[in-house]
Amino acid sequence: MTSRDIRRGFIDTVGHTPLILIESLSQATGCTILGKAEFLNPGGSVKDRAALFMVLAAEQSGELSPGGTIVEGTAGNTGIGLTLVANARGYRAVIVMPDNQSSEKISLLRSLGAEVELVPAVPFSNPNHFYHTAKRRGEELPGAFWANQFENEANAESHYQTTGPEIWQQTGGELDGIVLSSGTGGTIGGVTAYLKEQNPQIHTYLIDPPGSGLYSYVTTGEFRAEGSSITEGIGINRMTANFRRARLDGAFQGTDLEAIEMAYYLLRRDGLFVGSSAALNVVGAVRLAQRLGPGHAIATILCDGGGRYQSRMFDAQWLASKNLMPTAKGLEFLS
Ligand code: PMP
Repeated sequence: MTSRDIRRGFIDTVGHTPLILIESLSQATGCTILGKAEFLNPGGSVKDRAALFMVLAAEQSGELSPGGTIVEGTAGNTGIGLTLVANARGYRAVIVMPDNQSSEKISLLRSLGAEVELVPAVPFSNPNHFYHTAKRRGEELPGAFWANQFENEANAESHYQTTGPEIWQQTGGELDGIVLSSGTGGTIGGVTAYLKEQNPQIHTYLIDPPGSGLYSYVTTGEFRAEGSSITEGIGINRMTANFRRARLDGAFQGTDLEAIEMAYYLLRRDGLFVGSSAALNVVGAVRLAQRLGPGHAIATILCDGGGRYQSRMFDAQWLASKNLMPTAKGLEFLS
């Protein structure tokens, strides 16, 4: 008898990612530090899950019909996921993106077949912000569906139905804490809601970059943001429907230098090649390990891979221009 294990196309290969024991950090902290390898999704990031759920929900509700157009404003990864889902299911993809994102993401989107519209990186209050521009395109283009990942709860639902349950099953429920950064709030909203329902004792934390108001929101109830960050895809200064689902016990902040140092640490010690948000997430996991003490299992999400940032955080000249050259020998960079 033959046993077969075959996935049906792109759609069936989204999710079911490995949960990786990060050996260097587990040794250093005395905890079990786990990273969910979302960079192994077919589109290369955690956003494949949200893209798939948003499209399937729109098909079900009738917002998207055969031959239609998917429109989204995105810093990149959601656009990549949506474009692949669009190709797999016969839609056109129009992606509106701020012009300060890495060139890899922009050219990748074009190679995949998206029509990419670059708009200036302006504050949310400006009507030319990518969010408002995408909304307008969704209204103007015939047969268009605006995915609206910030407010569309199919985003968090994808993590409530898949990412959260996968982590729970992969750890056999032996999980003491999880730390996540937030862009739309989909991952943190869905994963923390699910895990808290399984076990309210699990410590759930946000890690937030400079320039984001979420740390202030979680710790004081008010949005306040200072500075800016080289991290991509995370940080926001307003409440979203997806973040509202999050069940959090607290929040950490992490700096750009900590994220860069951690990205190089993971690459050199563990062979893990991840992007800036994943690295910041791991900074958060180590912070929680230090707070809880040895003997705890702490998970986080490795949102995307480092290849998406080759011209930035993995380019020495770029790092030097930002004064972010990594120099640490061990984990002394963690403040
Ligand atoms: N990391 C990266 C690289 C991303 O593109 C995103 C999505 N914006 C996130 C993290 C955050 O995920 P979420 O939108 O689910 O909060």
